[in-house]
Amino acid sequence: MKKRRSMIVRGLSLVTSAMLLMSGCGGGSSEPKCSELMDRTARDVSVSVSRIDDLPADFVMGADVSSYLSIDKSGASFYDFEGNKVDMDGYFRLLKESGLDIVRFRVWNDPFDEKGRGYGGGNCDTSAAVTMGKSATKAGLQVMIDYHYSDFWADPGKQMTPKAWLLMSDDEKEAALEEFTRESLTALKDAGVNVTIVSVGNETDNGMSGEKGWTEKCALYNAGSRAVREVFPDAKVALHFSNPEHDYVTYARHIADCSVDYDIFGTSYYPYWHGTLENLTEVMSEIADITGKRVMVLETSWAYTLEDGDGSGNTVSHESNSANPFYSFSVQGQADEIASVTGAIADVGDAALGMMYWEPAWIPVGYYNPKGSDADKVLESNRKKWEKFGSGWASSYASVYDPDDAGKYYGGSAVDNQALFDFEGHPLDSLNTFRYMREGHELEGLTLSQVIMPAPVSMEIGEDIHAYLPMTVRGELDNKQRLTFNVEWDEEELRQLSAVGEYTVHCTITDEIPGSDGTPRKVMLKVNVLPHNLLVNGDFEKGDNTGWEISDPMAGVTRDDPYRGDYALHFWDDSTVAFTASQTVRLDKDGELVFSMKAQGGDMGDGHVVKLIVKNEATGQTYEGSVTLTGWQSWKETGYYVEESAPVFRVSAGDKVTVTLEVSGAAGGWGTIDDVFLAYNE
Ligand code: CA
Repeated sequence: MKKRRSMIVRGLSLVTSAMLLMSGCGGGSSEPKCSELMDRTARDVSVSVSRIDDLPADFVMGADVSSYLSIDKSGASFYDFEGNKVDMDGYFRLLKESGLDIVRFRVWNDPFDEKGRGYGGGNCDTSAAVTMGKSATKAGLQVMIDYHYSDFWADPGKQMTPKAWLLMSDDEKEAALEEFTRESLTALKDAGVNVTIVSVGNETDNGMSGEKGWTEKCALYNAGSRAVREVFPDAKVALHFSNPEHDYVTYARHIADCSVDYDIFGTSYYPYWHGTLENLTEVMSEIADITGKRVMVLETSWAYTLEDGDGSGNTVSHESNSANPFYSFSVQGQADEIASVTGAIADVGDAALGMMYWEPAWIPVGYYNPKGSDADKVLESNRKKWEKFGSGWASSYASVYDPDDAGKYYGGSAVDNQALFDFEGHPLDSLNTFRYMREGHELEGLTLSQVIMPAPVSMEIGEDIHAYLPMTVRGELDNKQRLTFNVEWDEEELRQLSAVGEYTVHCTITDEIPGSDGTPRKVMLKVNVLPHNLLVNGDFEKGDNTGWEISDPMAGVTRDDPYRGDYALHFWDDSTVAFTASQTVRLDKDGELVFSMKAQGGDMGDGHVVKLIVKNEATGQTYEGSVTLTGWQSWKETGYYVEESAPVFRVSAGDKVTVTLEVSGAAGGWGTIDDVFLAYNE
């Protein structure tokens, strides 16, 4: 789990299916029951998956199913593909038969309050891992244990110290971590659990167990590693990070500098947050070369629907994910995502050790339909179960340990729509993707139903458009499978982009198109040719803060979420967001100025400010334009081009003009600003 994800969940209201809104359902004798209206087609879909060749012999595919036990205790049912209800042993057998080699269980030190009430998130302690691990081992699955070394969720946003270690010195904490790992693993070993991989920490980019420095973190990694070597000498030790789009090479150097004893450099990879698959392959290849270690994707997932099934808003939802350049939200989309990520890590070569899906079975404890006549009752019942069995992402009891996040926003499953089971526990064919990737399972007779329009591109006049043109487009087949097609651009059209203005250019798909009669398929792209930018590094493509005076280190130029190119001005803070970025330019001729700014982001709170201020220091004339941030990749623009009432901004040679970006918002707010633009209107 990543901090930004749980933060997105907070702001969500419940999602209602359009179908249910129109149909009406409930207790009336002529009305169908709500459960009968649920989209059952998902469980009948058959997915198309190409075989992945040349996987390393010991490559493992699997999933984190930590929440299973709490879902089971809450009374929810799981079924096999024949529709038979399965118990715990049957459930793990089903996973094995679907092609999984390994399952992963997170372990928290002590996820309970002083009265023994669970914090939720599956109440995952060693005892839960032993119970599920025994059953998984019986089914022939390998087991990975994922130690968070915290009493609750550990991720890039928080790495809280376990309660029992709070007053310890560094040396004492190191010894306690080693002892905790030894005891926990010994319990698993004594129970006969087949532990083959142990993760020392979870998404530890920014810390572990309250320690932030690399020296302290490394000492803790080694303490955990020592215990693994002692109890399970044949198991591999994994380290786990969560930002492949960031600087893993620096991480690897720190880890090597302090001689950490480990085998696997693991990463999370969620398409929305973690860069392109090409970048994943490239970065993990580089890491494998530098370190000589194996590499693995330890978490990934994709949603088969944007609906919510339990009355607790989902991370990926209608509200936050309408913009989706990746896969379709469908059972086939899940298969595409799993196969694409697996292919990308397998492309690393012999160093690739495997991939794991995150929480494919965190289904609703009770299927909730907000329009049903029994909706209130179901939601009340779900809430009781989340509290009693810890089957939601957090219970109210977590507030003593994590008051700011779990304490405020506790609730149910935020990922029921990315499970590989439907809301009632029936497996989706996407679960078989693990088997299909080894065997191949390609459907026949598919045809291209639509091409996903590439996002518009902008360039400054005089630049080479080829630097901005995509060389591929995504197309969706009639089974919702998305494929990548190579394209060729119409060079004749491109030569016409020689003056400021908006253009439409075209490319032609050069790859074979499923179901096509051979007619060339053209794809359109909008191109905006902009005048010369007077700002230094207004597009942030220098890759650093050059040109800008930035008032606080919470903001800076990074590779996170650019609008255009590779860089943007990114901001995030777990306390209040407030900064300015500004620069002053001296004009060398008379004229009229135009200006604009683009921004995206979220969790900024009511009344947040994201402002572009342009001031002529000579005349005092000032322009102010604002945008309201509404979510990830929901780009908003302000300035001359979008404001009907933008003033005529006349300037004279020698005038100094200051451009200021002013941002303020709530704690936890995040976003990026890109393409800040100041030019003569000509
Ligand atoms: Ca949910």
